Amino acid sequence: MKKLIIAIDGPSGVGKSTLSKRLAAELGYLNLDTGAMYRAVALAAWQRGIEADDCTALAELCREISISFERQGPAERVLLDGIDVSEAIRTPEISQLTPQFAACPEVREAMVCRQRELGRDGGIVLEGRDIGTVVFPQAEVKFFLKASAAERGRRRFLELQDKGVVVDLEQTIAEVRARDEADSSRADSPLRQAEDALVIDTTTLSIDEVLGEMLKAVARGV
Ligand code: C5P
Repeated sequence: MKKLIIAIDGPSGVGKSTLSKRLAAELGYLNLDTGAMYRAVALAAWQRGIEADDCTALAELCREISISFERQGPAERVLLDGIDVSEAIRTPEISQLTPQFAACPEVREAMVCRQRELGRDGGIVLEGRDIGTVVFPQAEVKFFLKASAAERGRRRFLELQDKGVVVDLEQTIAEVRARDEADSSRADSPLRQAEDALVIDTTTLSIDEVLGEMLKAVARGV
């Protein structure tokens, strides 16, 4: 069977990470969380005091740091220069900072280059904002997931609460909207739906229902 490249794009809190992992597991494919790469860059920049508009320093940073993924049982860990930063990249602060660093064209170029290398041979599900439009416009199967901002904020709120992070629901919804705005309005590779993507509104669907639709689409080769 041909090993496909599958792109999953959409805004934050839409279910991309969970679905990407589940779909990859069902197909025996690799899974690449490209958002984790941008988050790791933001964390590294923040640790070194690099400002988001200093694209020269950010380009150098991207050449210096190593970002890798390591499977530990069912969980996948994100390593920045060999150090496990899986939790550190998911704090509300880093979530809010990441779009500013991800808007720098030099950062995007470096990350897209790594993503293309990792996905080159197919047999991979990549999730992000620009996979079907920029990273792999030739991907055989493309999904664009969407859901209302209120629902996505509610999901993020529950996820953070689950991890013991104290947050306010209204504030979490406002942060989701702010991140949408930043990711959709940047000049370089903004979040947008590829014309040939299958759009799935996940607002009222369970993860299993969405996964079912995705598996059918993969079988059809959409
Ligand atoms: O997917 P996640 O919410 O973890 O992504 C974090 C941030 O990384 C996004 O808000 C966006 O700014 C950036 N990102 C991006 N392009 C991607 C994936 C993520 O710009 N392909």
